[in-house]
Amino acid sequence: MLFKSSYPDIDIPIHIPLWDFLFTPSPYFKSINSLSSPPAFINALTNKSLTFSQVKEYSIYLSTILAKNLGLASGDVVSICAPNSIWYPVTLFGLLRAGCLPALSSPAFGEDEMVHVFKTVGAKYIICYEENLKIVRAAARRCGIEETRVFVLEGKTDGTTSVQELVEQGRQLGEGGQVESRGLPMGKKNNEVCALLCFSSGTTGLPKAVMISHQNIIAQLLQLLPTTSKDHTTILGLLPFYHITGVLKLLTLPLTLPSSVILLPHTPLSLPILLSTISTYQIAEPQLVPPLVLHLANSPLVANYNLSCIKRFASGAALLSSSVLRKLEARFPGTGFKQGYGMTESTGCITTHPLWGHTFKYARMGGTLVANTSVKVVDEKGNVVGVGEKGEILAKGPQIVMGYFNNEKATQEAFDEEGFLRTGDEGSIDSKGFITIHDRIKEMIKVKGIQVAPVELEDLLLSHESVEDCAVVGVRDEYSGERPFAFVVLKEGKEPQGVEEEMMGFVRERKVRTKWLSGVRIVDAIPKSPSGKILRRVLRDRLKREGKSV
Ligand code: AMP
Repeated sequence: MLFKSSYPDIDIPIHIPLWDFLFTPSPYFKSINSLSSPPAFINALTNKSLTFSQVKEYSIYLSTILAKNLGLASGDVVSICAPNSIWYPVTLFGLLRAGCLPALSSPAFGEDEMVHVFKTVGAKYIICYEENLKIVRAAARRCGIEETRVFVLEGKTDGTTSVQELVEQGRQLGEGGQVESRGLPMGKKNNEVCALLCFSSGTTGLPKAVMISHQNIIAQLLQLLPTTSKDHTTILGLLPFYHITGVLKLLTLPLTLPSSVILLPHTPLSLPILLSTISTYQIAEPQLVPPLVLHLANSPLVANYNLSCIKRFASGAALLSSSVLRKLEARFPGTGFKQGYGMTESTGCITTHPLWGHTFKYARMGGTLVANTSVKVVDEKGNVVGVGEKGEILAKGPQIVMGYFNNEKATQEAFDEEGFLRTGDEGSIDSKGFITIHDRIKEMIKVKGIQVAPVELEDLLLSHESVEDCAVVGVRDEYSGERPFAFVVLKEGKEPQGVEEEMMGFVRERKVRTKWLSGVRIVDAIPKSPSGKILRRVLRDRLKREGKSV
């Protein structure tokens, strides 16, 4: 059967681009133009802040300099690889207003990972930050991007211009010197124009750039508004801005509520700083990921802080264990819990908890379908199944993305013949419309809520002189949720001594921390299907039999 959202359909505007939707008066929410005491993006570590009006104003200045002085054209791709900063929203919105296409990725990537990002999106310009400037410059050089096209977010660094400086140049042009918002290309609706690129490996293969349209984000904001509590007035800005959840819950939704965002740059995160930030800023609904939920349920440090401001916890991104949820409830009696289920390819949520369901009773479930959304559940034989039955979740709605950038094949494979997105997740929907996610059918591994594509690690390991063949699977890890584990076949004549340490070091030197291996096993052969596909389930079952949790 087809499961449909129980919310009334929302009329999604189709002619407005995202910047104009957020920053010009609209019937959908109180515009920031009409706020008397404007909320802000505040960095909890440095106390630097920008009000929403400043963010708007600065994004106008930035777009003017980009379009007028630097000559960026509509559709030019600009990679942003920077951590959460008050200058991030200025950059993102400035680029959108100038009609450019921002591509968001992790600031912690190494040189090869950056090269993959810049090449995949065809970056013309890059915006990074002081700490990764050296790596970014090296990667840019390998992609033929001139050094003058690399900027930093803020500060003065080694001759590199900062966004902050570009904003200042724009301000000096005065009110009359600013360009108009570039809007949508002539004759195009907002669902036909890509606003943003984020990375995801989808159901298979290497990380790809997901094309998120102006309408996708506008629709998701309108879908989330009826599910957002009134007390969500100060938001914990801990999740990375480059992830779709950051884009929605931290960069755009706050402008529509409006709510202040308290930024905590993602790594390294200390629990005392997190707890004191929640307490100082009286955050009613901390938005977390499963490893942090685990900390809050277990850590003795929690007792040192007055956390009575917490009304409910919010989480998503990966499975949560019932025992952790029980511990959390016992520790924070009287609070509630809220989850969202979705992915980059659904611009965030397919489901989230309705306002009446923000309780621990429903905490293990992913919530109900947001407005304008329908889902079918399909079993292994391809049959559509009914209430309570398990199968792959397939989803349709205005938040489902356009596809993968420059990758028609992957785009086609992502949708079924009726245009439903294949999520690669196994789930079921109960009689109240609540979704439960049971397992992940797709290859993707999730480490602390961040995606890791096994194929990427397999490609790297295969480049090692001792490796004949290999396969990477996810194994459960109490703190990270999952971690990658490698099976390796050695080339003839290679000795197994020290291989485990060597492989782990090989990955550590070349990949961001979330991709580091938790273990390596030497085997005689990798199990494969007749068509050559790695049988990951066989490997996971093998680990399970040995008592490893997968
Ligand atoms: P991403 O594109 O990085 O957001 O990853 C999306 C994937 O994360 C989904 O396809 C699921 O496998 C997993 N995921 C997201 N939300 C949940 C949730 N609430 N429960 C279980 N898994 C989730």
